[in-house]
Amino acid sequence: MSENSAVTVLGLGPMGRALAGAFVAAGVRTTVWNRTPGRDGELVGQGALRAASAAEAVAASELTVVCVVDYDAADSVLRRADVAAALKGRTLVNLSADTPTRARDAAAWAADHGVRYLDGSIMTPTTTIGTPDGVFIHSGPKDLYDEHLPVLFALGGTHTHLGEDHGRAAAYDVALLDIFWTTMAGCAHALAVARAEGVTPGELAPFAMGIGAILPGAIEDMAAGVAAGDFSGAANPITSSASSMKHIIAASERHGIDAGVMRAAAGQAERVIGLGYGTDGFVRVTELVAGRLAEAANRG
Ligand code: NDP
Repeated sequence: MSENSAVTVLGLGPMGRALAGAFVAAGVRTTVWNRTPGRDGELVGQGALRAASAAEAVAASELTVVCVVDYDAADSVLRRADVAAALKGRTLVNLSADTPTRARDAAAWAADHGVRYLDGSIMTPTTTIGTPDGVFIHSGPKDLYDEHLPVLFALGGTHTHLGEDHGRAAAYDVALLDIFWTTMAGCAHALAVARAEGVTPGELAPFAMGIGAILPGAIEDMAAGVAAGDFSGAANPITSSASSMKHIIAASERHGIDAGVMRAAAGQAERVIGLGYGTDGFVRVTELVAGRLAEAANRG
């Protein structure tokens, strides 16, 4: 780390504080600002510099990292005239989460205002920041990424540049969080159903983790099938998947537990079967949701 390295962190929620703390711990001169005052006490105690305004914070460093709840929040901080003027000619890395479209829109705004811009996403919790377990993905100009990587390395973990299109990191982010949140919804539901059947969370957890351990192989197979256009279900046809889902819905609703998420998944499987693809695997749902599934009977 160069003795002159400096960074500004805008946004001191749990993640912003973790980022700023990692920069400080790595010896980077770190200036911090948050919309609501009073969130920087611990950081300042560790050596961070408090700025009185976002514009003052941005002016303190060549590199600014913003990490707030979403791009509406980021825009409300960054698109003020004084902040935009301070950012001109400097580099902004937006590690807030949002959609690919918002990331591209932010990049267009940055280009219009002479701001050098990288977009990124953080794929791991606050506890991983500053450790080898953090996962950061970035998109935007590769030379700009290379220029600032030495400072970003202070955040620990792995950093991957996914391409020049500013929307790429957010595209990965929404796809990966799609897996995460539907899994979390399944876990919440499973714990409720198990408890209603007299199975304690502690009893279920080791077996639930075993289900989690099956997922990497299932993801690999599913991705390979989609890539190859191979939707065959020889080992596990979707009719069998749909049957399994029905048991979950019945067991759940018998206890008055909302089975909405499972009903949605079962509904997709039933539609695939109804269109004549019952011998295919669950992977056929990828075609259904994309609107690419014609009735098997109508296929040439
Ligand atoms: P939040 O997502 O709750 O974001 C809180 C931050 O957003 C605070 O600094 C808050 O400021 C700011 N904020 C909210 N609304 C506004 C607004 N209108 N104008 C200005 N600032 C606003 O918590 P996190 O810090 O945890 O998350 C930040 C980002 O990091 C999110 O996009 C999140 O998805 C992402 N992330 C978080 C992870 C985590 O484990 N926490 C993991 C991976 C990614 P104020 O204090 O003034 O309300």
